[in-house]
Amino acid sequence: MFDVHQIRQDFPILTEKIYGKPLVYLDNGATTQRPKRVVEVMDEYYLRYNSNVHRGVHFLSNKCTDANERAREIVKDYIHAAGTEEVIFTRGTTESINLVAYTFGEAFIREGDEIVVTEMEHHANIVPWQMLCERKGCVLKVVPFKDNGELDMEAFAALMNERVKLVGVAYVSNVLGTVNPVKQIIDAAHAVGAYVLVDAAQAIQHIPLDVQELDCDFLAFSGHKIYGPTGVGVLYGKKALLEQMPPWHGGGEMIKEVRFEKTTYNELPFKFEAGTPDFIGIIGLGEAIEYVKSVGLEAIAAHEHELIEYAMGQIRQIPGIILYGDAPGKSSVVSFGLKGIHHFDLGTLLDKMGIAVRTGQLCADPVMQHYGVTGMVRASFAMYNTLEEIDALCAGLKKIEQIFKM
Ligand code: PLP
Repeated sequence: MFDVHQIRQDFPILTEKIYGKPLVYLDNGATTQRPKRVVEVMDEYYLRYNSNVHRGVHFLSNKCTDANERAREIVKDYIHAAGTEEVIFTRGTTESINLVAYTFGEAFIREGDEIVVTEMEHHANIVPWQMLCERKGCVLKVVPFKDNGELDMEAFAALMNERVKLVGVAYVSNVLGTVNPVKQIIDAAHAVGAYVLVDAAQAIQHIPLDVQELDCDFLAFSGHKIYGPTGVGVLYGKKALLEQMPPWHGGGEMIKEVRFEKTTYNELPFKFEAGTPDFIGIIGLGEAIEYVKSVGLEAIAAHEHELIEYAMGQIRQIPGIILYGDAPGKSSVVSFGLKGIHHFDLGTLLDKMGIAVRTGQLCADPVMQHYGVTGMVRASFAMYNTLEEIDALCAGLKKIEQIFKM
């Protein structure tokens, strides 16, 4: 049984007061809170077992190595990868995408090739490809979205041709909440010989993922958006593809033998994991995924569905509200503006009521340009949010609307 009040007890921060008001944390798209057990496991490893991984023969080193590799197993099972060699630990989604842009880019991209992204991507899934285009002379093409936040799939189909080498697409938009038809996109891209990178930063915590069923070539996500620590993330890649890609960072752990004449590289996934990883963060990520599994992702998804439906219905009724993104089946994000009020003022006034929302361009400048605005306010939900918190947000917005009307 999903019991949101029980779940909230696992997250001590949710009992904090902000300016004397109960915290209403609605900035989960930026980062989620961590349950106690994630912090406790990390504490335990720092305080009792800390020792560098993959290097020592002693007890502590083996203990951390085992836990690090256990976390890889947990991630593998969670996204249903074929093997642990397909799970590379990085610092987060941004680093995962940059890794692909550099190494896949090095091996697979030639002048005149095309990379396709969508207009609703986070900057992390735009800028690395632009940098690749500058290095390699390839061309970036953009799939537009419709005003309701749905991707224009006709425009996408029209962009598919044999020059396209890679499609980068967000599973869920961090601004519009749109859940993109990634399976359809992957199949269409494969039909012209292109590879696909799925940015799952806003999907991993909401939607069950199966990389084999999706048949995506790469998938990236961050630990801190799925109740895990900051500074750790994952790149999934198909083994056959990763094997054809050169390493990115050079250093310890990614080598087999180092000779001044020629160095040979380690096997997957270590080829892409130069230097000491954030192994305690990785262990924390494993624990976070175990926590999500213990609650049940299906139950979380059902609860979050209720939250988003309720939020859209309630926020829509607020006088002067402008909603951005209304695609059918959208995920846990509501972005909006209030007529005549700057988004920073709105965010600041909500903050004074203890309500934490995101304001600004939300790392998605092209989405702002689409709607001709300089910024938005975003409320984004997680498993521990309640209908009462959405009521608090709406009451806050109504109050602000009244103040500005006077
Ligand atoms: N992609 C999407 C869709 C995001 O929402 C985010 C973060 O908000 C990122 C990429 C970047 O994630 P990180 O900053 O953890 O690397």
